[in-house]
Amino acid sequence: MSNPDKAINYFHINQKQLTEAYLNLLRIPSISTNPDHKADMVKAAEYLSKTLAELGFERVEIFQTKMHPILFAEKRSSNPEAKTLLIYGHYDVQPVDPLDEWKSDPFQPEFRGENVYARGASDMKGQVMASILALESVVKTSELPINIKYLLEGEEEIGSPSLDKFIIDNADMLSCDMILNPDAGMVGMNQPTLVYGLRGMTYFEVRVDGPKADLHSGLWGGNVANPATVLSEIIAKLHNPDGSVAIPGFYDRVVPLTDDERKQIAANKTSDQAFLDITGSPALYGEEDYTPLERQGARPTLDVNGFYSGFIGDGAKTIIPAYAKAKISCRLVPDQDPMEIYNLAKNYILSIAPDTVRTKIFLHSAGPAYLANDAPGAENLVEAFREVWNAPVTFKREGGSIPVATVMLQELGVKSLLTGFGLPDDGIHSPNEHQHYPTWLKGIEALIRFYLSFGEE
Ligand SMILES: [Zn+2]
Repeated sequence: MSNPDKAINYFHINQKQLTEAYLNLLRIPSISTNPDHKADMVKAAEYLSKTLAELGFERVEIFQTKMHPILFAEKRSSNPEAKTLLIYGHYDVQPVDPLDEWKSDPFQPEFRGENVYARGASDMKGQVMASILALESVVKTSELPINIKYLLEGEEEIGSPSLDKFIIDNADMLSCDMILNPDAGMVGMNQPTLVYGLRGMTYFEVRVDGPKADLHSGLWGGNVANPATVLSEIIAKLHNPDGSVAIPGFYDRVVPLTDDERKQIAANKTSDQAFLDITGSPALYGEEDYTPLERQGARPTLDVNGFYSGFIGDGAKTIIPAYAKAKISCRLVPDQDPMEIYNLAKNYILSIAPDTVRTKIFLHSAGPAYLANDAPGAENLVEAFREVWNAPVTFKREGGSIPVATVMLQELGVKSLLTGFGLPDDGIHSPNEHQHYPTWLKGIEALIRFYLSFGEE
C-alpha cells in the first residue's frame, strides 16, 4: 500500500471518531464579535491547541492579544531538508441571528441529507479541521515529509485587528516555504478551486465646498453653484458610456487577460441569471467587452460607496447645501499601483471641477492587487485535487481581497494557496450554514495527498 493509501485508509477506518473531533469544535460558540462569548473563544483556542499537541506538535503556544488569542503550533519532520508549510485559519464564527430561521441549534451540529448544519461548519472550522484530520491520518501512518506550522486566529470575522502586527512581530517564527489558506472555497461541487487573483483597492473621499453655510435657496438659488449638483456632475464623468472608467491612465498598467485565463474563467459555470438572483438588480451593468465573471475578478472598477449632501431628514427644507461629499473606491488588478491610481483620480477630478466651488480629495487607504498563480506548492495541490476529483481544477480570480494573504506576502515573502472545500451555497454568515460532507471528505483526502506529495521528490 502506498503512503497516501495507508493514510486515506486510516481516515476511513476512523472516520466516525475523526468527524466527531470536527463536531466538537462546532459545539463551541466562538462568536468573536460578542463579548459574552469571550470564554468560548478561549475554549476554542484551547481545544485546537490540545488537538495539535496530541498529534505530536513540538510547540503549541497561545498568544494573548487585546481581544482573542492567536494560536501558533509547529511540528517538524525528521528530514532536516524538509520544506515548511504554514497553514492559516480562523476559529471564530459570525453571530447566529436571526436565530428563529435556523432549523436546528447552530451550535448542536446536525446531519441532514448530505450536509452538516452548524455555524462555522463551512466558514471555517470545517476547513481548519479538514487540514488537521488529514494531518493526523498522515502522522499516524507514515513519516511526515514536511514541517507544519499553524497560525490560527480568533478575530477574522471582526477584521483581524491583531493579526498584521502579530505577523510583523513574529516573522521569524512564521517563516515558511508555502502557505495554505483554506478560507476561500470551491466554485461548485465537482470543481476543486484555487483562487489565484485578488483585487487591490484605492479608497478616497471627495469633498466639494460652496457657500460658507447652507443658504436659503429662495434668496440665493441661481446665483451660487450648488455643491450637490457639482459633485453629481463630477461623479457622472468618472465612467464612459460603455461602462469603463474615464480617468485618463486608469487602465495603463492593467495586465491583459490571456486567452488561457479567459478559458479558465469561463469554465466556472455561474450564469448571468445567478448574478441577477444574488443581487436582485434588474440588469447587469459593466464594461461591454468582458463577461460578468471577468469583470468580477479580473477587471478594475470604480464605485461610489457613499454620497452625502444637504438635508436628508424627513420632510422638506429649502437650502443650497454648503458642501457635498462622496466616498469612492477603486478595485484594482495587477499591475495597477494603488498610489498612482489615487493620483490619477485626484488630478482628473481636480481638472474637471469648476472654480465655482472648492474641491478637495483625500486618501483613506491603498493596497495592491495580488496574483498568485505561481504560489509555491500550487502544482502539488492541483495534482492532489485532480487525483481526488478526477476533474479539472478551476482557477479563480476573486473580486474582493484577502488581507492576510497580502500581509503574509509582504512580511514572509510567500504567496498563499487560497482554496477550501466550502461551496457557494453553504450559507456562510447566514442561518442554516452547512458543509457538504462528501466534499469535506474529498477535501481531507486531497490534503493527505498534498502533504505526502513532498516526500516523493
Ligand atoms: Zn472565513
